[in-house]
Amino acid sequence: MLLDYHMHTFLSDGRDDHEQMVSSAAFRGISEIGFSDHISIKPVSWALPIDRIDEMISRIHAVQASDTKGVEVKFGVEMDYFFGMEKQIQQVIKQLPIDYVIGSIHFVDDWNFDTDANEFDRVDVNRFYRQYFKLVQQSAKSKLFDIIGHCDLAKKFAYYPTFPLDVLYDETAQVFKRADVVVEINTSGRTKPCNEFYPSIPFLERLAYYKVPVTLGSDAHVEQNVGQFFDEAIAGIKALGYKEIARFTKRKREMVKI
Ligand SMILES: [Zn+2]
Ligand SMILES: [Zn+2]
Repeated sequence: MLLDYHMHTFLSDGRDDHEQMVSSAAFRGISEIGFSDHISIKPVSWALPIDRIDEMISRIHAVQASDTKGVEVKFGVEMDYFFGMEKQIQQVIKQLPIDYVIGSIHFVDDWNFDTDANEFDRVDVNRFYRQYFKLVQQSAKSKLFDIIGHCDLAKKFAYYPTFPLDVLYDETAQVFKRADVVVEINTSGRTKPCNEFYPSIPFLERLAYYKVPVTLGSDAHVEQNVGQFFDEAIAGIKALGYKEIARFTKRKREMVKI
Protein backbone atom coordinates (compact mmCIF):
# COMPACT_ATOMS: atom_id res chain seq x y z
CA MET A 1 0.00 0.00 0.00
CA LEU A 2 1.23 3.47 -0.91
CA LEU A 3 0.44 6.48 1.23
CA ASP A 4 1.62 10.07 1.44
CA TYR A 5 1.09 11.69 4.82
CA HIS A 6 2.87 15.01 4.41
CA MET A 7 1.54 17.76 2.14
CA HIS A 8 0.51 21.40 2.29
CA THR A 9 -2.35 23.29 0.66
CA PHE A 10 -2.90 27.01 0.10
CA LEU A 11 -4.21 27.14 3.68
CA SER A 12 -0.61 27.21 4.92
CA ASP A 13 2.36 27.55 2.56
CA GLY A 14 1.24 25.27 -0.27
CA ARG A 15 -0.11 26.45 -3.62
CA ASP A 16 -2.94 24.10 -4.52
CA ASP A 17 -6.25 23.12 -3.00
CA HIS A 18 -7.33 19.84 -1.44
CA GLU A 19 -9.10 18.60 -4.58
CA GLN A 20 -6.00 19.12 -6.73
CA MET A 21 -3.83 17.18 -4.26
CA VAL A 22 -6.34 14.30 -4.22
CA SER A 23 -6.48 14.18 -8.04
CA SER A 24 -2.71 14.09 -8.20
CA ALA A 25 -2.58 11.19 -5.71
CA ALA A 26 -5.20 9.27 -7.72
CA PHE A 27 -3.21 9.85 -10.92
CA ARG A 28 -0.04 8.55 -9.24
CA GLY A 29 -1.63 5.42 -7.78
CA ILE A 30 -1.39 6.54 -4.15
CA SER A 31 -4.24 4.98 -2.24
CA GLU A 32 -4.16 7.14 0.89
CA ILE A 33 -3.08 10.70 1.56
CA GLY A 34 -3.10 12.93 4.58
CA PHE A 35 -3.17 16.72 4.61
CA SER A 36 -0.70 18.20 7.06
CA ASP A 37 -0.94 21.98 6.84
CA HIS A 38 1.28 23.87 9.27
CA ILE A 39 -0.05 24.97 12.63
CA SER A 40 2.25 26.87 14.93
CA ILE A 41 1.44 28.25 18.33
CA LYS A 42 3.95 31.03 17.61
CA PRO A 43 2.52 33.10 14.74
CA VAL A 44 4.50 32.63 11.52
CA SER A 45 3.70 33.58 7.93
CA TRP A 46 3.82 30.01 6.61
CA ALA A 47 1.37 28.48 9.09
CA LEU A 48 -2.40 28.49 9.22
CA PRO A 49 -3.51 31.03 11.82
CA ILE A 50 -5.17 29.28 14.77
CA ASP A 51 -8.38 31.25 14.10
CA ARG A 52 -8.69 29.60 10.66
CA ILE A 53 -8.73 26.07 12.03
CA ASP A 54 -12.48 25.80 11.39
CA GLU A 55 -11.88 26.46 7.71
CA MET A 56 -9.27 23.68 7.64
CA ILE A 57 -11.71 21.27 9.24
CA SER A 58 -14.54 22.10 6.87
CA ARG A 59 -12.33 21.85 3.78
CA ILE A 60 -11.03 18.43 4.75
CA HIS A 61 -14.49 17.16 5.59
CA ALA A 62 -15.78 18.47 2.25
CA VAL A 63 -13.08 16.68 0.27
CA GLN A 64 -13.62 13.48 2.26
CA ALA A 65 -17.31 13.62 1.33
CA SER A 66 -16.55 14.20 -2.37
CA ASP A 67 -15.53 11.75 -5.10
CA THR A 68 -11.89 11.10 -4.24
CA LYS A 69 -11.39 8.53 -7.04
CA GLY A 70 -10.66 5.81 -4.51
CA VAL A 71 -8.08 7.81 -2.53
CA GLU A 72 -8.64 7.65 1.22
CA VAL A 73 -8.16 11.11 2.74
CA LYS A 74 -6.79 11.53 6.24
CA PHE A 75 -6.70 14.63 8.41
CA GLY A 76 -3.25 15.41 9.71
CA VAL A 77 -1.39 18.50 10.84
CA GLU A 78 2.26 19.48 10.99
CA MET A 79 2.79 21.18 14.33
CA ASP A 80 5.85 23.02 15.48
CA TYR A 81 7.39 21.80 18.70
CA PHE A 82 8.72 24.37 21.16
CA PHE A 83 10.39 23.16 24.33
CA GLY A 84 8.47 24.33 27.40
CA MET A 85 5.25 25.01 25.46
CA GLU A 86 3.93 21.44 25.55
CA LYS A 87 0.69 22.38 27.35
CA GLN A 88 -0.24 25.05 24.80
CA ILE A 89 0.54 22.67 21.93
CA GLN A 90 -1.57 19.95 23.53
CA GLN A 91 -4.48 22.43 23.88
CA VAL A 92 -4.51 23.00 20.13
CA ILE A 93 -4.08 19.33 19.23
CA LYS A 94 -6.97 18.23 21.35
CA GLN A 95 -9.46 20.52 19.58
CA LEU A 96 -8.67 18.94 16.22
CA PRO A 97 -10.59 15.96 14.79
CA ILE A 98 -7.37 14.56 13.36
CA ASP A 99 -5.97 11.19 12.32
CA TYR A 100 -2.35 12.04 13.17
CA VAL A 101 0.02 14.83 14.20
CA ILE A 102 3.46 15.33 12.69
CA GLY A 103 5.79 17.09 15.13
CA SER A 104 8.47 19.22 13.49
CA ILE A 105 11.36 21.43 14.49
CA HIS A 106 11.74 24.53 12.29
CA PHE A 107 13.18 26.80 14.99
CA VAL A 108 16.36 26.73 17.05
CA ASP A 109 16.68 29.66 19.46
CA ASP A 110 13.94 31.59 17.62
CA TRP A 111 15.86 31.19 14.38
CA ASN A 112 13.69 29.75 11.61
CA PHE A 113 16.66 27.83 10.23
CA ASP A 114 14.89 26.11 7.34
CA THR A 115 13.76 29.38 5.72
CA ASP A 116 16.62 31.71 6.68
CA ALA A 117 19.82 30.19 5.26
CA ASN A 118 21.97 33.34 5.51
CA GLU A 119 22.31 32.93 9.24
CA PHE A 120 24.31 29.68 8.79
CA ASP A 121 27.42 31.71 8.03
CA ARG A 122 27.09 33.49 11.37
CA VAL A 123 26.27 30.63 13.74
CA ASP A 124 28.35 27.88 15.34
CA VAL A 125 27.17 24.99 13.16
CA ASN A 126 28.42 22.33 15.61
CA ARG A 127 26.41 23.88 18.41
CA PHE A 128 23.39 24.28 16.13
CA TYR A 129 23.41 20.55 15.28
CA ARG A 130 23.56 19.57 18.95
CA GLN A 131 20.68 21.93 19.79
CA TYR A 132 18.67 20.71 16.83
CA PHE A 133 18.96 17.02 17.71
CA LYS A 134 18.22 17.76 21.35
CA LEU A 135 14.96 19.46 20.31
CA VAL A 136 14.07 16.56 18.02
CA GLN A 137 14.59 14.18 20.93
CA GLN A 138 12.52 16.38 23.24
CA SER A 139 9.73 16.52 20.66
CA ALA A 140 9.57 12.71 20.67
CA LYS A 141 9.75 12.46 24.45
CA SER A 142 6.91 14.99 24.78
CA LYS A 143 4.52 12.28 23.50
CA LEU A 144 2.55 15.00 21.73
CA PHE A 145 3.15 13.61 18.27
CA ASP A 146 2.43 10.45 16.28
CA ILE A 147 5.07 11.11 13.63
CA ILE A 148 8.38 12.96 13.82
CA GLY A 149 8.74 15.17 10.73
CA HIS A 150 11.92 15.43 8.61
CA CYS A 151 14.07 14.35 11.57
CA ASP A 152 17.41 15.69 10.29
CA LEU A 153 16.21 18.95 8.70
CA ALA A 154 19.32 20.67 10.13
CA LYS A 155 21.17 19.56 6.97
CA LYS A 156 18.72 21.22 4.53
CA PHE A 157 21.14 23.87 3.25
CA ALA A 158 24.12 21.48 3.29
CA TYR A 159 25.91 23.00 6.26
CA TYR A 160 27.43 20.18 8.30
CA PRO A 161 29.18 19.91 11.66
CA THR A 162 32.86 19.08 11.88
CA PHE A 163 32.15 16.09 14.15
CA PRO A 164 30.67 12.78 12.91
CA LEU A 165 26.92 12.47 13.45
CA ASP A 166 26.83 8.72 14.24
CA VAL A 167 26.48 9.19 17.99
CA LEU A 168 23.60 11.66 17.66
CA TYR A 169 21.88 9.39 15.14
CA ASP A 170 22.16 6.38 17.44
CA GLU A 171 21.05 8.28 20.54
CA THR A 172 18.11 9.86 18.71
CA ALA A 173 17.00 6.52 17.24
CA GLN A 174 16.93 5.05 20.76
CA VAL A 175 14.85 7.99 22.01
CA PHE A 176 12.38 7.47 19.14
CA LYS A 177 12.08 3.78 19.97
CA ARG A 178 11.46 4.42 23.66
CA ALA A 179 8.94 7.17 22.88
CA ASP A 180 7.18 4.80 20.45
CA VAL A 181 6.95 7.37 17.66
CA VAL A 182 6.89 6.85 13.91
CA VAL A 183 9.49 8.57 11.74
CA GLU A 184 8.58 9.80 8.27
CA ILE A 185 10.77 9.25 5.26
CA ASN A 186 10.40 12.77 3.90
CA THR A 187 11.48 12.80 0.27
CA SER A 188 11.51 16.59 -0.19
CA GLY A 189 15.17 16.88 0.83
CA ARG A 190 16.14 15.41 -2.55
CA THR A 191 15.37 18.77 -4.21
CA LYS A 192 17.14 20.86 -1.53
CA PRO A 193 20.88 21.69 -1.27
CA CYS A 194 21.43 18.60 0.96
CA ASN A 195 20.16 16.49 -1.95
CA GLU A 196 18.98 13.52 0.11
CA PHE A 197 15.89 12.37 1.95
CA TYR A 198 15.24 13.14 5.60
CA PRO A 199 16.55 11.10 7.36
CA SER A 200 19.88 10.29 5.69
CA ILE A 201 20.81 6.64 5.01
CA PRO A 202 23.20 6.36 8.00
CA PHE A 203 20.47 7.73 10.30
CA LEU A 204 17.88 5.43 8.74
CA GLU A 205 20.20 2.48 9.36
CA ARG A 206 20.10 3.24 13.10
CA LEU A 207 16.29 3.56 12.98
CA ALA A 208 16.07 0.18 11.25
CA TYR A 209 18.45 -1.33 13.83
CA TYR A 210 16.18 -0.25 16.70
CA LYS A 211 13.06 -1.15 14.70
CA VAL A 212 11.60 2.35 14.76
CA PRO A 213 8.47 2.28 12.54
CA VAL A 214 8.41 4.55 9.49
CA THR A 215 5.90 6.13 7.15
CA LEU A 216 6.11 8.17 3.93
CA GLY A 217 5.71 11.86 3.19
CA SER A 218 6.52 13.94 0.12
CA ASP A 219 6.09 17.32 1.86
CA ALA A 220 4.47 18.43 -1.40
CA HIS A 221 3.59 22.12 -1.61
CA VAL A 222 2.25 21.77 -5.18
CA GLU A 223 0.14 18.97 -6.64
CA GLN A 224 2.82 17.59 -8.96
CA ASN A 225 5.08 16.73 -6.02
CA VAL A 226 2.62 14.37 -4.32
CA GLY A 227 4.41 11.02 -3.93
CA GLN A 228 7.65 12.28 -5.45
CA PHE A 229 10.64 9.90 -5.25
CA PHE A 230 8.53 7.25 -3.49
CA ASP A 231 9.97 4.38 -5.59
CA GLU A 232 13.43 5.28 -4.35
CA ALA A 233 12.21 5.74 -0.76
CA ILE A 234 10.49 2.35 -0.70
CA ALA A 235 13.49 0.60 -2.22
CA GLY A 236 15.66 2.28 0.44
CA ILE A 237 13.60 1.17 3.41
CA LYS A 238 13.10 -2.34 2.00
CA ALA A 239 16.87 -2.67 1.64
CA LEU A 240 17.12 -2.06 5.38
CA GLY A 241 14.55 -4.74 6.18
CA TYR A 242 11.36 -2.71 6.47
CA LYS A 243 8.31 -4.61 5.23
CA GLU A 244 5.58 -2.32 6.60
CA ILE A 245 4.78 1.34 7.04
CA ALA A 246 2.50 3.06 9.52
CA ARG A 247 -0.92 4.50 8.80
CA PHE A 248 -3.18 6.29 11.26
CA THR A 249 -6.90 6.57 11.88
CA LYS A 250 -8.06 8.88 14.68
CA ARG A 251 -4.53 8.69 16.10
CA LYS A 252 -4.53 4.90 16.20
CA ARG A 253 -1.54 3.33 14.44
CA GLU A 254 -1.72 0.33 12.17
CA MET A 255 1.10 -1.22 10.17
CA VAL A 256 0.47 -2.01 6.49
CA LYS A 257 2.57 -3.98 4.00
CA ILE A 258 4.57 -2.15 1.38
ZN1 LIG B 1 8.30 20.98 8.02
ZN1 LIG C 1 5.83 20.21 5.74
